[in-house]
Amino acid sequence: MADSYRFRCGECGYRTAWGSESQGEVRIETHYSRSHPHTLTGGVVEVRKGSSGGCSGCLIALGVVFVLLLLASRH
Ligand SMILES: [Zn+2]
Repeated sequence: MADSYRFRCGECGYRTAWGSESQGEVRIETHYSRSHPHTLTGGVVEVRKGSSGGCSGCLIALGVVFVLLLLASRH
């Protein structure tokens, strides 16, 4: 699904809304630039399986550090 990605801030409890991977990247980057301007963007990506909802067990916290991904897209 297109809205299966959620990004969690590595510095505080902030989480983006569910959205596409690219939307989440923009949101978490915006959050970092506002809330943690001196911290390298990082954190955890959550991927939701299926679209029926209501099943917290379907959540997978991948624990992906996406710093490298973001850095690559900047340059
Ligand atoms: Zn934060």
